Amino acid sequence: MSRRLVILGSTGSIGTQALDVVARSGGELELVGLSAGSDWPLLLEQAQRFGVSRIALADRDAAARAAEAWTDGTVLAGPDGLVELVTGGDCDLVLNAIVGAAGLLATVATLGEGIDLALANKESLVVGGELVNQLAEATGAQILPVDSEHSALHQLIAGERAGTIDRLLVTASGGPFRGYTPAQLRDVTVEQALAHPTWSMGGKITIDSATLMNKGLEVIEAHHLFGTPYDQIEVVVHPQSIVHSLIQLCDGATLAHLGYPDMRVPIAYALHYPNRTEVPLPALDLPALGALTFEAPDAETFRCLALARAAGIAGGTAPCTLNAANEVAVHAFLSGRLAFLGIAEVIERTLSRLPSAAVHSFESLTEADAQARRVASEVVERLSH
Ligand code: NDP
Ligand code: MG
Repeated sequence: MSRRLVILGSTGSIGTQALDVVARSGGELELVGLSAGSDWPLLLEQAQRFGVSRIALADRDAAARAAEAWTDGTVLAGPDGLVELVTGGDCDLVLNAIVGAAGLLATVATLGEGIDLALANKESLVVGGELVNQLAEATGAQILPVDSEHSALHQLIAGERAGTIDRLLVTASGGPFRGYTPAQLRDVTVEQALAHPTWSMGGKITIDSATLMNKGLEVIEAHHLFGTPYDQIEVVVHPQSIVHSLIQLCDGATLAHLGYPDMRVPIAYALHYPNRTEVPLPALDLPALGALTFEAPDAETFRCLALARAAGIAGGTAPCTLNAANEVAVHAFLSGRLAFLGIAEVIERTLSRLPSAAVHSFESLTEADAQARRVASEVVERLSH
């Protein structure tokens, strides 16, 4: 029986690779809805190519233009439209490949309906991990990680009994500035930061990889996905991006998950789970790779990693504040208003001005997010003068 799938963020890096997985599924995955932020021409082209009759655009102007140009289907608009796409369409599985905290609403809508969620949008778990998990437990919906490290961990953990895993080791490529000193980082350009050595990804996560914030967000993501305490989650830099993560067991064994860096592998795992499907990749050729190397992250130079871990441990609104400040800072860096080293500075100052508060509801997260964006924008202004 085919699985009815909605892809949110289908015009992005993960979204387009997910469409490739769907196209190769031999009808096992049936696309029933697609969404984007504002890129309506590409979204329409995808809908026509895959015979999808319901689409949503977060941007209302873009939705209006799409509705004018397309009379064969339904165009939903705004954040409510995204929710309607998920809840009003009889689907079995949603892939959330939206970028940023904007993805939280869709995560909540999906799990609230009891629909299984393939989750690329790690920000959902960073911002609202506890509430998101409670919601999934209440409705019985599953969260299947798409992030490559968490997909690896999901597979490694599946074979082990509870209480036998001592530590999770999350691998990091180290990004384009691995080995740089703070002095060398002072003048790096947007172009240099966007040139990731091993993965091809969307702009925001590529900058997060260069600052190591991506790994910080992933530590928080792992904590919520697997219920692992922070002191049992470690980061190890592995520049070749072949080992996607490892687990250490109580008997001294360490298990690793290996493969070429291609996001279609974890995407296919999440969309077909618990089945496996073929992904067109060459078999791993270890002699050709020669050496796999590992090193400790430089936490003093790349401060975002420690900031994220501390926010995760503090809990409450701290991870939400961290994430919002990071989004503001990365946006400012990409538009040339903030230096690379300013990103960590903005996050640290925002966190110190907004002490963590308890989270009672998703509304309190929306408020914390808005407040953090206001403060972070002020800090960006001050640093850029
Ligand atoms: P992209 O920037 O390439 O794509 C983002 C998608 O989200 C686009 O479809 C975009 O639409 C849509 N979008 C943007 N803003 C909004 C909004 N406010 N509301 C609704 N939709 C919106 O990002 P990636 O594909 O790189 O990343 C997506 C998520 O997956 C992120 O959380 C990232 O951390 C995670 N991830 C990505 C990996 C990768 O290899 N790329 C690896 C692991 C995790 P539009 O085109 O119209 O702007
Ligand atoms: Mg990852």
